[in-house]
Order: sequence, then structure tokens, then C-alpha cells
Amino acid sequence: MNAVDNAAEYRADVSRYRRDFRRYLQELSWADQWRAVSFTSAEDELAFGSKVLAELYAQGWNRLGWPVEVGGLGGDEIHRAVYYEEIGAAMLPIPAQHWTLETLGPALIHFAPDLASQYLSGYLDGSEWWGQSFSEPESGSDLASLRTRASVDGDELVINGQKIWTSQGPTARRVVALVRTGTPESRHRGLTMVLVDTDTPGVTVRPIALASGRRELAEIFFDDVHVPRERVIGEIDGGWAVTMYLMQYERGMYGYAVLNKAMTELGRLREYMVTAGSTADRARFGEIYIQVVCAQARTAETVRRLARGEIVGPESSVDKLLFGTAEKAVNDLVLDVRRDQMVGGRPDVDAAELDSLRAEWWYTRAGTVMGGSAEVQRGIIADHLLRLPKEKR
Ligand SMILES: Cc1cc2nc3c(=O)[nH]c(=O)nc-3n(C[C@H](O)[C@H](O)[C@H](O)COP(=O)(O)OP(=O)(O)OC[C@H]3O[C@@H](n4cnc5c(N)ncnc54)[C@H](O)[C@@H]3O)c2cc1C
Repeated sequence: MNAVDNAAEYRADVSRYRRDFRRYLQELSWADQWRAVSFTSAEDELAFGSKVLAELYAQGWNRLGWPVEVGGLGGDEIHRAVYYEEIGAAMLPIPAQHWTLETLGPALIHFAPDLASQYLSGYLDGSEWWGQSFSEPESGSDLASLRTRASVDGDELVINGQKIWTSQGPTARRVVALVRTGTPESRHRGLTMVLVDTDTPGVTVRPIALASGRRELAEIFFDDVHVPRERVIGEIDGGWAVTMYLMQYERGMYGYAVLNKAMTELGRLREYMVTAGSTADRARFGEIYIQVVCAQARTAETVRRLARGEIVGPESSVDKLLFGTAEKAVNDLVLDVRRDQMVGGRPDVDAAELDSLRAEWWYTRAGTVMGGSAEVQRGIIADHLLRLPKEKR
């Protein structure tokens, strides 16, 4: 069921899902283990997320919000928002696979329903996860300049080039890659989106360790990689339309999920601050709490628009700016309040918990870089929403 059907029935359906999922999480025998879990590597975190997803999938809870054709149980983005809210409200960590699923899944369903029905259930049941391979060493903000080349050869694409900064790339089963099928000058008109298995001959995945030491990202090299043409998402040379569709989910839906995680982090910090932290920290806690709630209100509206099937477009840059700065602020506060533990370490505090807090702080440094930097989002807002005069370069 979705919002365009009978409105009262839809609201009752969403409320019922919320109530039943909340009760499930309250009664879950291993919820305390899930809540307390900490990791010392990105691989362990994803492996645990995989087990959680398998369990939730078996019970049906994470299938709401996804079409039946891809292993879901129907519903829309609002069901998925409720799912993140309830996991957050129970102070449980959201499985990391959701960050990439929310970014890639909707575009696959929209532009390649056959591929989605073939592969997406594996994402939902935790047996696989994918990476988004757009950025290249010399193409980040100016994505339309990318150079990884795919030549169309009969029923196949043959890919050569290099991608970088693919999140969850080191253990990804597949990647959604944006490649150039047009001439070098074709910019965004000559790009194609394609789903590539990472075990295809010619694909080399080289993990990148972040400052935390965790291998969260990867460089991906393509050396004469043959991919069947059916793996194209959308049209040949039509990859830019897929990218734009995907971005509104990366900025809106992913943002909403991330803010629920930020709320959980604030909840945990509040427990800690009952006995620690200065008056100034408490005032700052209040300010940052409001910052997160405001960002949530904004992304909640975007989620509602996506559920109504609207195209959000450049307005999603506002969401991206708000949630990226909010998650950074939350982790700065965590560091300032727990600085003696996080910097020095303490024998009375679990080492894996401190390592996770540090890794989260490091990762959120990129909150205003990944998915398009804050400067670029401000540029989009200035040009497309405020219609300010063009900057002289
Ligand atoms: C932790 C992390 C995870 C990531 N995950 C992924 C992923 O999964 N998949 C993927 O494809 N990519 C990923 N990225 C890459 C990310 O999208 C790029 O880093 C980002 O788009 C910026 O590109 P760049 O690094 O090439 O920087 P550049 O584009 O070289 O920018 C350098 C600086 O110039 C500024 N700048 C550039 N253009 C403008 C402009 N027009 N106006 C104003 N300022 C400008 C930028 O704001 C920045 O400060 C990730 C990056 C990080 C750090």
C-alpha cells in the first residue's frame, strides 16, 4: 500500500507497522547484544549488519517499503523512514548496509526493474551489499568529466579505467559504476550506469584505510572488464538521468536514516552526560539536538515528497548540507565530552567502543565532502534555488 491509495487506510497501515515493529524490538531476545555491539573493523561491522538483516528479513520487518518484485512487502519511503526511526528510538545501530542500499536501490528499481528483481533481495536479506563507483582520482565534484571508458561491443560493454572512494567497496559483491560511453568531450551526455560484479575477471578492488585505520573505502580498477549489456541501468548514454534520480535519495532518504543514527548517538551521549560534561557541554548538546531535529524535519518532508513520487531535484542539496553538518557537529560534541577517553584510552572503558567512537568521528569529517561537498551544495542552492548571479571565475 502507498500514500496515493486510501489515505486513512494508509495511515493506519503505517501506524500498525510502527507499533508492531516497536514491540518486536522491545521483545527481541538479542536486542541488548545488538545495542551494545562495537567493532574494530569495517569488515566486522558489515558482517554483523548482515546477520541483523538476515534476521529482520526472515521476520519481514525490513521488507516493508520495498516492492514485492524485489523481495519486499510493498509500501513506500515512509515505511522505510519508520523502520529507521524505530531502530533509532530503540537505541540500536542501523546496519551499515542501509547507507548504500538507500543510495542505490531506488534508482535500480526505477531504471532497471529486471535487475532489481534479480538482485535486490540479496541486499535486503543481508547476503550481499554493493558500492557506488562514481568518483575518480580526477573527477569528484565535476563528475561529468569522468574518464573510465566503456566501449559497446555487440551484447557487451568492455570497461577500462579507475574509480576511487567507493564506500563499502572492499567487501562489496557488486558496484554501480558510472562510465563514459560517449566521446571524451560528451560530458554528462555520454555517461552510462552499469551494474558490475566485483568478481568479474579484470576487476581489482584495492581497499583504502581511512585515518581511523578502518578499510571503509576502495579503489576499483577495471582492466578489459566484459559486462553483459543487460547490466546497463537505464539507457546507454543515459547515465546522467540515473545519477540525478539517485542523488535525491542519497541526499534525502539516506540523510533521514543518518539523522536517526545521529539521534541515537546523542541519546547515548546524554546517558553519559548524566554524570559527565560541563554546563557549556550541556548548552551545546541542546543546540546540536535542535540542529539535528531541524535537519530531520527538512529530510522528513523530502521523504514524504519521494513517497508521493515527486522529483526533488536541486532542493535535496539543502538536505545534504543540513544533515552533513549536523552529523559532524554531533561527533565533535562526542569527542569534546569524551576527549580524555577517546584520545588517551581508558582501561575501564571497552577498547572496541572507544575505537568505534573514534572511527565515527573520523568518518563524519567526510560528512561535508562525500556525495558532493558542502561548497558544491551551496553552489547548487545559489544557482538553482536562489538564482543568484553567476560567480565570476
Ligand atoms: C568518506 C568518503 C566516502 C565517499 N564515498 C563515495 C562513494 O561511495 N562513491 C563515490 O563515487 N564517491 C565517494 N566519495 C567521493 C566524494 O563524492 C568526493 O570526494 C566528492 O564529491 C569531492 O570530490 P573530490 O574529492 O574529487 O574533491 P574536488 O572535487 O577536487 O574538490 C576539492 C575542493 O574544491 C572544492 N570545489 C570543487 N568544485 C567546486 C565548485 N564548483 N565550487 C566551490 N568549490 C568547489 C570542493 O568543495 C573541495 O573543497 C567519498 C568520499 C569520502 C571522503
